[in-house]
Amino acid sequence: MKISIIRGQNQIGGSIIEVSTDSTRIILDIGINLIEDSPIDVPQIDGLFCGAKNVDAVFISHYHADHMGLVNHLLPEIPVYMGAKAYRVLSASADYRGTHLGFYPEYLIDKKTVVIDDMCITPYKCDHSAFDSYMFLIKCGEKTVLYTGDFRANGRHDFMDLLQSLPEVDAVIIEGTMLSRDDTTKNIEEEFLEKIATSYLRRHNGPAFIMMSAQNIDRIKTAYEVAKITNRLFLEDIYTADITVASDYDLPVPDKKNGIRVFSTGGDKQYAKLQKYKEAKIGKYEIAKKPFLMCIRQSMKNYLEKLSDMIPFDDGVLFYAMWKGYMEQPEMETFLHFMRQKGIKIHILHTSGHADPQTIDALIKDVTPKIIIPVHTENAQWFERYKNISYVCYDKEIII
Ligand SMILES: [Zn+2]
Ligand SMILES: [Zn+2]
Repeated sequence: MKISIIRGQNQIGGSIIEVSTDSTRIILDIGINLIEDSPIDVPQIDGLFCGAKNVDAVFISHYHADHMGLVNHLLPEIPVYMGAKAYRVLSASADYRGTHLGFYPEYLIDKKTVVIDDMCITPYKCDHSAFDSYMFLIKCGEKTVLYTGDFRANGRHDFMDLLQSLPEVDAVIIEGTMLSRDDTTKNIEEEFLEKIATSYLRRHNGPAFIMMSAQNIDRIKTAYEVAKITNRLFLEDIYTADITVASDYDLPVPDKKNGIRVFSTGGDKQYAKLQKYKEAKIGKYEIAKKPFLMCIRQSMKNYLEKLSDMIPFDDGVLFYAMWKGYMEQPEMETFLHFMRQKGIKIHILHTSGHADPQTIDALIKDVTPKIIIPVHTENAQWFERYKNISYVCYDKEIII
């Protein structure tokens, strides 16, 4: 079995990995670089993006663009595999924008092996900030390789369960995002964020807001639980509502009875979309009368300006629940400054979507690979600590 790291080895993002034998060729992830020019530079990979089709299948670990952003550039007729719920979330996102995804995948089922000629590919559902993410175990003859995709242990999926189900492998292709970031302390558990936010909100009586990625379903669940415990309405904008309904996760569908309500920030298009939420929809006047936790984004500044004319924002809270790095972007700085001026206190409520060093260590010790192939990292040397038991591969190609 030959493993080729086409892209995304000594960088975070842009992941493209090929695994092949004499008769079979599969690709794991087809990501764009995190910083891309427009139009996107599509790598000229023969049989995948150009020339005659010469790839048996593409397996997508999760829906972040750095793992699947090139999907619409694939040659037609190459089968694509991804999680059904992940695809539904993506479709809902495209529908909201009035576009179409333009591809129709085969669905991955947790631990159900897909056989492609002489290769057996088994997806293992794992925890990541993208919903419905998978690792892939590839078996060919006696040889096995595990590709971790992006993963962590601090979300709502049980990491120990995953470790118990993974076999020992000959090689692991493993992400190491956190190994190159300054802060390599142990990740806070997602469920602990719930406790932090709840106790913080109990000390503040003003309106509460949260900024998060609507595709981070775990985080939306956290926000909903916080609203429920603190007796606040949970207010989803239409986009967040569409995504959570599509995810079919452990989150109730918006309803007057369960306190999940849906609001529009204006415009005819939004008004039309809001109608499907029937009883769950809520307008500014009703919002102004009740305590709430509202999902917001930078683009809602005008709406929030109007809302602040109706209710005082004093003693209000904004949970900033995204990667801290985004706070330095000029538009975000402007928005956060605007909220502060309205009397809102900003509280960071975040935990990483990527494995901390302890989690990476646990995985390595569990699957005991003979070869470690670091990817999605700027600090591959970190894995040298296992050199007595595993060979750390820095090459772009290796045969196992
Ligand atoms: Zn990634
Ligand atoms: Zn990711």
